[in-house]
Amino acid sequence: MRAEHIVYFDIDKTIINTPEIKNGFVAALAQELGISETAIADLVTAYTTPLESSTDFDPEALAQHIVENLLAKQATSEKLLQLIFDVIAPVVVFEEVVQVLEILARMPDVRLGIFSEGVREWQEVKLKNSGLDVHFANEKLRGIYTRKLLSEVIAGLRPNSVVVDDKKQVVNAIAAQRLDVTAVWINRGDREPEAALHASVLVITSLRELPDLANELWSEYPD
Ligand SMILES: [Mg+2]
Repeated sequence: MRAEHIVYFDIDKTIINTPEIKNGFVAALAQELGISETAIADLVTAYTTPLESSTDFDPEALAQHIVENLLAKQATSEKLLQLIFDVIAPVVVFEEVVQVLEILARMPDVRLGIFSEGVREWQEVKLKNSGLDVHFANEKLRGIYTRKLLSEVIAGLRPNSVVVDDKKQVVNAIAAQRLDVTAVWINRGDREPEAALHASVLVITSLRELPDLANELWSEYPD
């Protein structure tokens, strides 16, 4: 049997430009509610600040928070939630993503997976509304976890796979726990320049580097 090699992708800031989603829905909500973008941004901050992790962000809870804190209750949370979902379109996908996914998917024995942390419904909406879900059709390889760095979650990554993530904390944890998995850090603007990388982590600045990297990694397994 030929070996399957999985390339797992993180979602936020790895394949989807998450800050652009926030900019989009702040503008859309401000327009809908007839209040300033600053006022909406303040409500978003008031909602996100107490969260234990930024990956706990749940648009449904945000919509509730906004409705409860508006002086004039002229909106329903369902309407606000729809506005938040509507801003996710292919435009928020980093420009190289689709081409790279198509190249990888054509490579023999390479399969595409997701290794994401967040609220499942929200992550699924991002994949679907961005059009990226078709590239990750295999449900078994679509991992969305509340906390993906739990050791039992990392233990579930397939052997000889690659994981691409924009967070040093994530690639470091995988490199430390899995000698048989290649952790790849994509530098999308280093937010923690002082934080060190585990010695075995590979660094890329564009996903375009992945097909060559995959070829090099797996050329020793021609069958
Ligand atoms: Mg990320």
